[in-house]
Amino acid sequence: MSGPLAGQRALVTAGASGIGRAIARRFAEAGARIFVCDIDAKALAAFLAELPGAHGILADVADPGQVDRLFAAVETEFGGLDILVNNAGIAGPTRKVEDIAPEDWDRCVAINLNGMFYCTRKAVPLLKAAGGGSIVNLSSVAGRLGYPLRTPYAASKWAVVGFTKSLAMELGPDGIRVNCIQPGLVAGPRIDGVIQAKADAFDIDVDEMKERLLKTVSLRRMVTADDIAEMALFVCARAGASITGQALSVCGDHQVLQ
Ligand code: NAD
Repeated sequence: MSGPLAGQRALVTAGASGIGRAIARRFAEAGARIFVCDIDAKALAAFLAELPGAHGILADVADPGQVDRLFAAVETEFGGLDILVNNAGIAGPTRKVEDIAPEDWDRCVAINLNGMFYCTRKAVPLLKAAGGGSIVNLSSVAGRLGYPLRTPYAASKWAVVGFTKSLAMELGPDGIRVNCIQPGLVAGPRIDGVIQAKADAFDIDVDEMKERLLKTVSLRRMVTADDIAEMALFVCARAGASITGQALSVCGDHQVLQ
């Protein structure tokens, strides 16, 4: 297979739908061999049916035992790894901080941050053995802006930036590049749910909430999952060979989160 990622072995977490699916499909087009994990059996089966040659298993990134099983499967299938995309992440609760239940906070941080650690600690020895590679972490514009009523999400996505920058320094001498992408409002069912939750929290109409949000984006529109996939491809391919330790916004210039 030819292309900018020809022969590269890539693992995309939460790759069965949304942004992860777009990245996995774009990487496959670019010549990579694809492994995904997800927690949604139906979405995973549909993804594997639409992308012949791709591999995948059910695994929750927040469970270290399941992540160990995931990496055992990756090693069996690929015999190593060149690219890890830490994509799994959930929106978490939309509530005032005093109304957030500790278990909802914990679940958000467990997936968005701890899961990234569990996968990275297993991937690094494989990337080192491959003589170098690339890690792409999904942060968010909520990882560079404050986000009222979404404190666990914002806190976890800022933490992703610290994790990324520290790892870039730690792994650079081994030829491993580490970057994070900060998507803005990505069109799709997830953002529809986020806007509905915000509209409910402010007690306003959902269309009004959407209009309010888009007024804070210079391009006055959402971005697409394919826009995020193009950035992921750019940093993993030859084009991104000297890029590491960066938090890259793909957001139409999103200036304020409300
Ligand atoms: P999504 O809600 O569409 O979910 C994608 C997939 O994640 C689903 O198939 C789901 O089953 C899987 N998943 C959920 N929890 C999992 C877990 N614990 N382990 C494995 N798989 C799991 O997500 P998305 O909108 O595509 O977002 C992907 C990443 O991008 C996340 O980290 C998210 O925070 C970030 N992001 C998204 C947006 C947006 O507007 N959609 C904006 C900024 C950042």
